[in-house]
Amino acid sequence: MGLGRGIGGGLVVDGKIYHGATCTAGEIGHVLVKENGPKCSCGGFGHLEAIASAQAISRSMIGLSIEYPETEAAIRRVTGSRAERITAEQVFQLAAEGDSIAQHIVADVTKYLGIALANIVTFINPSCIILGGQVAQAGTLLLQPLQAQVNELCLPAIGQPVRIIQGKHGSEANIIGAVTLALQDV
Ligand SMILES: [Zn+2]
Repeated sequence: MGLGRGIGGGLVVDGKIYHGATCTAGEIGHVLVKENGPKCSCGGFGHLEAIASAQAISRSMIGLSIEYPETEAAIRRVTGSRAERITAEQVFQLAAEGDSIAQHIVADVTKYLGIALANIVTFINPSCIILGGQVAQAGTLLLQPLQAQVNELCLPAIGQPVRIIQGKHGSEANIIGAVTLALQDV
């Protein structure tokens, strides 16, 4: 699953890519996770991509920081005064450093990405979920709370065995976006 500008995904079943009836299988970016949520690039509302894509995370951080001088200062510090260049990874880092606005955004991302993944895990029982793209660059700052969220939301027999891991090369995971939700050992 590529978590970059948008969010893409794919299914690998028994070693083969599963395309679906109209080749849209794995379009996880447009699953509904929040009723009346933010507007998505597709025109819908509350889709995962509108909350958890790199673009959505950066946009939220810049938008919410306006009323919080400390957060604005932290953004300027990590971006060299070019706030519009704030990356999702930097938002995760600021959250880990204790910035409350960044923590709020990270909590939302983890919550809604966790809901999407828990539903997928429950439905298809994959062995492994590989996260790639810009957001996945946050590494354990993302993976640990996400794994905890999936374990909490899924029945133990379903949630415990699934491994949520970062693609070895973030960019490669994007390119081979189809090899993302693996239904057997990879
Ligand atoms: Zn959408």
